[in-house]
Amino acid sequence: MKQTVNVLTVSGGKDSTAMWICAVKELGIEVLPVFCDTGNEHHITYQYINYLEKELGPVKRIKPDFTERIAKKAEYVRKHWPKKLQQDVPGCWMPTFELDSEEAEMPTSEPPDPSKSYRGVYGWEWVPGRKGMTPEEAEAATQRAIDHLKPTGNPFLDLCIWKSRFPSTKVRFCTQYLKAYPIFDEVYAPLLEQGYHVVSWQGVRAAESPARAKLQEREMTPEGYEIYRPLLQWSARDVFAMHKKHGIEPNPLYLQGMGRVGCMPCINVNKDELFEISRRFPEEIERIAEWERIVSAASKLQNSSFLPALASDDKKNIYDWVEWSKTAHGGKQYDLIKAIEFDNVPVCSSQYGLCE
Ligand code: SF4
Repeated sequence: MKQTVNVLTVSGGKDSTAMWICAVKELGIEVLPVFCDTGNEHHITYQYINYLEKELGPVKRIKPDFTERIAKKAEYVRKHWPKKLQQDVPGCWMPTFELDSEEAEMPTSEPPDPSKSYRGVYGWEWVPGRKGMTPEEAEAATQRAIDHLKPTGNPFLDLCIWKSRFPSTKVRFCTQYLKAYPIFDEVYAPLLEQGYHVVSWQGVRAAESPARAKLQEREMTPEGYEIYRPLLQWSARDVFAMHKKHGIEPNPLYLQGMGRVGCMPCINVNKDELFEISRRFPEEIERIAEWERIVSAASKLQNSSFLPALASDDKKNIYDWVEWSKTAHGGKQYDLIKAIEFDNVPVCSSQYGLCE
């Protein structure tokens, strides 16, 4: 009989924290909590993980490193871009591969067949055609990219520098490269090799989305570890009740208007969340604007927006999207109530009634 290791993925959010409390305090199970540091978390979340560690036990922190991949990309850019950038490029479907290779640079002129699955491909995006650059322009763009293809030590930013773009809702490579692959490589794979039965506890709830409602409580993965979702039938109220029962504070971000805790902001941020982040944490918006400048400089078209899924002609960067977050339904006119609220941030506000 194989010995079991229960690995808990913790994010500092309410659900994974409740799962951790439940495992340790209610069930008395020995667990291995793992926190994947994306580099795009709010500093309050880092402090909160430290607090949880004191209350519930040690946490293994994982921080992916893209130094080697960025160096390889810089080599490729130096060698190929001066010529490539001079060529006219027709519009094409661009696949995004899971493998670390310049294959992601190889477009296909045919739209992908959605009925087929393509090994290693996450998604497809239509990239409009463009005219080739002059030799001088190509040389300048290549040099600018090389100057910015340098690791910063921040996993999220380095991933985007390497890819020369931000992830999007369709091509969501952030979750894989910042969480799924690192946790598999650093935790699951070594445990499986040592002969353990690995159970990955995941704090997802059916009420969160129709897709999550279809998930099973337990399933085996092709890689050989088991997934266990103990909170599947829990409500948000149950989750906070578990915190309260055992005297564990929720992440303070829930008392500062945040509906979810994770990347700040997430690429899936909605209008109200962006509004809330921009009025409470303007420094996070400034950080993203600086990231847009760096990633743009490392990209062929010198243009990359953090919210490409929302991209449109009149919204080029995060500041444009913050302005949009202040508008009423339809996105054309400023919302007068939001204009008043922007400068009057309440000390405590919670979407879950935690301030009452
Ligand atoms: S999907 Fe959102 S929360 Fe997840 S890694 Fe990407 S940006 Fe972060």
